[in-house]
Amino acid sequence: MTILAEPLEKTPLERYVAPAKPSLAGATRGELAEMLGRVGVPERERKMRVQQLWHWIYLRGATDFDTMTSVSKGLRATLTEHYTLDRPNIVAEQVSVDGTRKWLIELPGEHAGERPHQVETVYIPETDRGTLCVSSQVGCTLTCSFCHTGTQRLVRNLTAAEITAQILIARDRLGDYPGMTHATGPGLPTEGERFVSNIVMMGMGEPLYNFEAVRDALLTAQDAEGLTLSRRRITLSTSGVVPNIPRAGDEIGTMLAISLHAVRDDLRDELVPLNRKYPIKDLLDACRSYPGVSNAKRITFEYVMLKGINDSLAEAKELVRLLMGIPAKINLIPFNPWPGTKYECSDWDQIEKFSDVVFNAGYASPVRTPRGRDILAACGQLKSETEKLTARERMALRAMAMTD
Ligand code: SAH
Ligand code: SF4
Repeated sequence: MTILAEPLEKTPLERYVAPAKPSLAGATRGELAEMLGRVGVPERERKMRVQQLWHWIYLRGATDFDTMTSVSKGLRATLTEHYTLDRPNIVAEQVSVDGTRKWLIELPGEHAGERPHQVETVYIPETDRGTLCVSSQVGCTLTCSFCHTGTQRLVRNLTAAEITAQILIARDRLGDYPGMTHATGPGLPTEGERFVSNIVMMGMGEPLYNFEAVRDALLTAQDAEGLTLSRRRITLSTSGVVPNIPRAGDEIGTMLAISLHAVRDDLRDELVPLNRKYPIKDLLDACRSYPGVSNAKRITFEYVMLKGINDSLAEAKELVRLLMGIPAKINLIPFNPWPGTKYECSDWDQIEKFSDVVFNAGYASPVRTPRGRDILAACGQLKSETEKLTARERMALRAMAMTD
């Protein structure tokens, strides 16, 4: 008689999950001081220690406390025990044929058990600069009718650290720290140049509805001993949250861009519904008195070109008239399509004629070249995968991006 061996029964064990340690990457000076205090660094030492950490985190791009040679061994061990320098996870990295890169970044949900959220950050290399387009919110509470992000239901504010971390992630992936080997590829700058030289708050979300976090992150970005991006190379774009515009000038001090898109209130009410609360006149008054505005620090007015909607030459003339007296630049943005949109991009011919009217009135009127359309990284195309597109939508989009 053969005895069949019973399969061994294993004792079910709960998998050990180490407690998550908070990360110092993205922290402000104040937060760093507080985190040092929590692990017993005496108050009199904190300022000096923050200065050391600041240098390693933001100037050198450290991802491991052990590389921080100017920090005492004892403190390095304490920091390793309690903290990390982890960045949020990159879920996907896409590289466009034109060198544009898009990172899909995962962030924890707001409540326990909630699925992680996702935001997108886009890097656009150009001949004289490298611009990073940063998100301020998951989705957007506003519902501009031509914007893909505005159709996303899921919304939460990013923390300052999550906003700053997008800059760190881009610099990590590009090798954009002193002494590191730079990434190479089509469209990227060559050795010796700074990869991320400019920041635009033009990703997902309305930055002026997440004021404090955006302010703190942009102050970290400007810090002369850290990320060292000049405030003139940082642009905050708003759809027109009028009461927060003067505060942005006073407390953040970066360049300002206004998503204008229409010259009449009835049309702007439809395109940018926030206009019902803050109409064009109030918005332009806030621009006239934007702290620091001058010919050397002009406000950029963004104008998306929508075929048959806002692209007539009469509207171009009205645009010029409206902006009279405001030190301004006008940025014409060809509409970037997305699945389900009712709008089309204006014909190229019409964009050129519109641009001529603006130019002849004395404004530089660059037309923003769409970048990264093949990877859905262009303006207004960002919408995180948290809301999955169907395979068919994806294909339709790709076809649109290719033929446009
Ligand atoms: N919420 C802010 C910043 C993010 S949007 C704002 O609205 O200003 C960045 C820019 O892209 C804005 O000017 C926005 O109006 C524009 N935009 C949105 N959807 C677009 C699309 N589908 N095609 C072209 N530009 C778009
Ligand atoms: Fe939000 Fe800006 Fe899109 Fe409007 S254009 S929905 S404000 S992200």
